[in-house]
Amino acid sequence: MPRLDQLLSSLGYGSRREVADFVKSGRVRLGGEVVKKADTKVQAEDVTLDDEAMEAPHGLLALLHKPLGHVCTHSDGEGPTIYELLPPRWMARKPSVTSIGRLDKDTSGLILITDLGPLVHRYTSPKAEVEKIYEVTVDRELDPALVATFASGGVMLRGEDKPCLPAQLEITSPLTARLTLMEGRYHQVRRMFASQGWHVEKLHRSRFGDYTLGDLAPGEWRMLDMPEEV
Ligand code: URA
Repeated sequence: MPRLDQLLSSLGYGSRREVADFVKSGRVRLGGEVVKKADTKVQAEDVTLDDEAMEAPHGLLALLHKPLGHVCTHSDGEGPTIYELLPPRWMARKPSVTSIGRLDKDTSGLILITDLGPLVHRYTSPKAEVEKIYEVTVDRELDPALVATFASGGVMLRGEDKPCLPAQLEITSPLTARLTLMEGRYHQVRRMFASQGWHVEKLHRSRFGDYTLGDLAPGEWRMLDMPEEV
């Protein structure tokens, strides 16, 4: 079992010194009783801080509606980051949270956030084949022949030597379509359309595996249950 100060600090509640201070000041309880010794061995489920249970003590998984203009990197050189939209405590966790894959700065939509490395791997490894759905707006009328081209598994992206996996395209209006991909290459949607002579003007991810945004507004997040197999 971890020590109380280690547990609180690994869950992002503060440095070892800061959490030792909350413990001394009586803000932490163990099974309902105030505990004043920071080195007490504890189980996360028994601990409260200011009467609140520990947040996601065994790993955090959340869904964010990424707004346009935010980047998915940790450094802010290219604009605001998605991490600025999340509780600062999540970045102070050890390990810190990260996104599962990335969306471009000019893409909005669903992105998963976690502190569990195996989950990142499970969802992003080339073998994972997680279904991702994108709502696409292009610059000129779509040609119905694109449906068969994308489904063929023969689309080559510039600079790559393996064709894209078959992808399902549904044309929803002359300038809009829904594209379902089972892989996640760099800028894949924009590059697939570019390879056929279309420019993507707007891009939004509406689904990732079993997850959808529901009524979550851009910039908002919600916590998810951890999938059983992690
Ligand atoms: N494909 C893209 O081109 N951009 C994204 O952000 C995601 C998929």
